[in-house]
Amino acid sequence: MNYISTRDKTQKVPSAVAIANGISKEGGLFVPESFPQITEERLLKLSKMSYTERAKNILGDFLTDFTDDELYHCVTGAYTDKFEDDSVTRIAKLGDDIYMLELWHGPTCAFKDMALQLLPYLLKTSAEKTVDGKEIVILVATSGDTGKAALEGFKDVEGTRIMVFYPEQGVSPMQKLQMATQEGENVTVCAIKGNFDDAQTAVKQIFTDKALAERLAANNMMFSSANSINWGRLVPQIVYYISAYCDLLADEEIAIGDKINVCVPTGNFGNILAAYYAKKMGLPIAKFICASNENNVLTDFIRTGTYNKKREFHATISPSMDILISSNLERLLFSLYEGNDVAVKKLMSNLNERGSYAVSDVVREHLQAEFYGGYCDDVSTKATIKNTFKNYSYLCDTHTAVAMNVYNGYVKETGDKTKTVIASTASPFKFAQSVLESVAGTTDGFTEFEMTDKLAELTGCAVPDSLALLKDKAPRFADVCNKAKIEEYVVSQLNLK
Ligand SMILES: *Cc1c(COP(=O)(O)O)cnc(C)c1O
Repeated sequence: MNYISTRDKTQKVPSAVAIANGISKEGGLFVPESFPQITEERLLKLSKMSYTERAKNILGDFLTDFTDDELYHCVTGAYTDKFEDDSVTRIAKLGDDIYMLELWHGPTCAFKDMALQLLPYLLKTSAEKTVDGKEIVILVATSGDTGKAALEGFKDVEGTRIMVFYPEQGVSPMQKLQMATQEGENVTVCAIKGNFDDAQTAVKQIFTDKALAERLAANNMMFSSANSINWGRLVPQIVYYISAYCDLLADEEIAIGDKINVCVPTGNFGNILAAYYAKKMGLPIAKFICASNENNVLTDFIRTGTYNKKREFHATISPSMDILISSNLERLLFSLYEGNDVAVKKLMSNLNERGSYAVSDVVREHLQAEFYGGYCDDVSTKATIKNTFKNYSYLCDTHTAVAMNVYNGYVKETGDKTKTVIASTASPFKFAQSVLESVAGTTDGFTEFEMTDKLAELTGCAVPDSLALLKDKAPRFADVCNKAKIEEYVVSQLNLK
């Protein structure tokens, strides 16, 4: 299995190279040349396996240049004793048709752990195969959850360093505290004056700066990415959609071949793209419901076929989705354009130069046949948290609430009662203030930890240990950097010769 670039199909590399480099040198994203198929027979077999076995089985189809031992080492390292239980994910059933796929029982309480516990293993193995001996410098732009999950995944991993940039005003107090208190000798955390898109754009520029790459090489270092542009971030996410289907089969909630819908609270389009890829492998999925907050660039795109990032940026209570440039959409376009790299390259340069692009009518129809797009604002998000708790005794975080809200709208609009897996992407305690305000009305005068305690008391849900323990940790990082100075900051931190 080889990987080709969305902007130049002649760039063809094995998975280890795609993962070690993160992004193709002309700026395109690596995608698999073809999609391995899962038959019904294989799904039934998978449904009898543990999560770790499922992961190894599915990854084996994509990472054909990894040995069986290497894959085993990677998945057991990532998923053994790092999550609250061996099942790794959990499914909560709400009413007759809704299955909350909880992806946040890992060390940082967000779904990013599902991929970022595994990525360091994939990256180290890839680097040993391809760029022997070089120190890998991971740069991360984060809207909150990726940063912490990447820091936890890479902390003290030999041969790697990690630097995380987050928008100073754009993350929740808990997220900021999680990152500022990060342990490990190879980690750097820095706030930037700017929003997530500024951070992501700066990091992408650093990755494609040839002169800087040469300077790093001279210092026996190389950059790589832990953002969802890296194939090593996406491939672990395909696993949990297939695994969820297997769990529903094993629990006799569905029969083999039954189609489900999948609803995902979306920002950078990584999570929902993984579900789309699972469908390309043959997983029976009918519709993808793409849920956005007020940064509704994807809703408009799905409804009109025009992507236009020139709009006001909103800082919302679902900050991990405060994104106007959804990087992974490029991979979807490559699929919808049936591998036409020239067309994708043109759209991406339109986006870069004019801030917008429009897809062809054929592609728009194909897009709309697969995807439904919807969004909601903060007021509706809070109302959804409250109502979901009232109706189902289920406490969801702000991001998951956006998905729930859009799902409810979808059912109202279409009458489609197909059983639906909703990706539940974060622990409600990570966004304690907004969640508590939603269920209790006010949080006046409460500290962050009084809020988590109050929330636990009101709802009977337990505060995850990793969040409760933050109370006694001292912050280690306080740097703030201007968005135009990120490259300079990186260079100074690396002490390059
Ligand atoms: C990152 C994140 C999202 C958005 O996921 P994408 O893959 O970027 O679309 C949604 N919810 C939470 C809690 C997140 O951390």
